[in-house]
Amino acid sequence: MPYKRKNRGRKKGRSPGRVKYVSCAYCGARIPEDKAVKRVYWRAPVSGSIAKELAAQGTLIATQRKTVYYCIRCAMFLGIVKIRPRDERKKIPEELMEKRLRRIIGI
Ligand SMILES: [Zn+2]
Repeated sequence: MPYKRKNRGRKKGRSPGRVKYVSCAYCGARIPEDKAVKRVYWRAPVSGSIAKELAAQGTLIATQRKTVYYCIRCAMFLGIVKIRPRDERKKIPEELMEKRLRRIIGI
């Protein structure tokens, strides 16, 4: 059976059976961890402009590590994950393409 994605959208082959569920940071959907898009951010407790001023004066600012999970829909919407270029995507066999065209034309 042909699959749309090479890994069926998950890292299930490499992960040990059942995986824990995580919540999407944007919409709150519950998704398996191996399917989610994981991003790690280092954030300072102060805003960017203040942090720059303090750094210029030679102050060390402590940063916090924050792990965020996104569901695939939100990752696409926010531009974190992008679709592959057309030529990198799976190629449709010519026979199948002809069949599809015939169906559209109505022969
Ligand atoms: Zn989401």
